[in-house]
Amino acid sequence: MGPAVTVLAGVAGLAVGSFLNTFIDRWPREEPVTFPPSRCEHCGRRLRPLEMVPVASWIVLRGRCRTCGGAIGWQAPLVESVTGLLFAAVAAAAGTPAQLLLGLGFVAVLVAITGVDLRCQLIPNVALLAGLGWAALVVLALVVPGPWAGWLAAPVAPASFEGAGAGAFAVPGPDEPAPSSAATPSAPLIRPPAVAPGWASWARALGAAAVGGLIFQILRWGSRGGLGFGDVKLAAWLGFYLGPRALPVALFTAAVLGGLVAGVLLLTGRRGRRDVIPFGPFLAAGGLVGWFFGEGLWQAYLGLGTG
Ligand SMILES: [Zn+2]
Repeated sequence: MGPAVTVLAGVAGLAVGSFLNTFIDRWPREEPVTFPPSRCEHCGRRLRPLEMVPVASWIVLRGRCRTCGGAIGWQAPLVESVTGLLFAAVAAAAGTPAQLLLGLGFVAVLVAITGVDLRCQLIPNVALLAGLGWAALVVLALVVPGPWAGWLAAPVAPASFEGAGAGAFAVPGPDEPAPSSAATPSAPLIRPPAVAPGWASWARALGAAAVGGLIFQILRWGSRGGLGFGDVKLAAWLGFYLGPRALPVALFTAAVLGGLVAGVLLLTGRRGRRDVIPFGPFLAAGGLVGWFFGEGLWQAYLGLGTG
């Protein structure tokens, strides 16, 4: 996508991040996201609209309530700016409107899940379901005949994103000679999962979801309480969004990151052997790597295989 869409997506991401931060705050306390209106957590004064402008209000107020001077946590500006940056990155990487819409829903849900899992070691079903509903709407629009199906799947910026959409299916198998472009550095490493028009997207999504869920259910049996059923559901959810090629990249990245961080926490004594380390954030980080780099890494790997 072009720079205008990227900037627009970044600004939208700040606003969505503000909503996600409220969700991260309130879901563990079983409070609805929309009511009551936001208040200072120290003096209880209701916040004015200008005090809720993402990131900027926190900087202007220097992280303090204007009435009571109580500290406003850094969680809100952090969640807002991370969401804004991820939205901009998704827009810059997406090659088709369908990839853009799916990518935005994907990162929004992952931000929410990471925040909640870090706070209370639970992965909220409502976030997974919202993401599934969003993806189902987009993929359904690709199946229902109409002018939108072609628009959703059409490459928007083919100049800067050669491998988008249908082109991603032209990847050579390991036994075929690769076209010269596949092995050259010009083949993009950043390549969101291909979204096929028609029922093919459903088949790929559901198949990868089943594989992701099954792998993590087996890991869960072996982990003796280290992994929860939420992790199994999240792995299946990642499969639905990433498809069969990017999913293995995501799960592998999550396992490596999780192992590294758990090792450091154990070695430095900040966590003991019996402590539970939430795995959702690692799956979310792996999911991001899979979404941006999964297909590109496969392409690079297959290019190497054919010399
Ligand atoms: Zn206050």
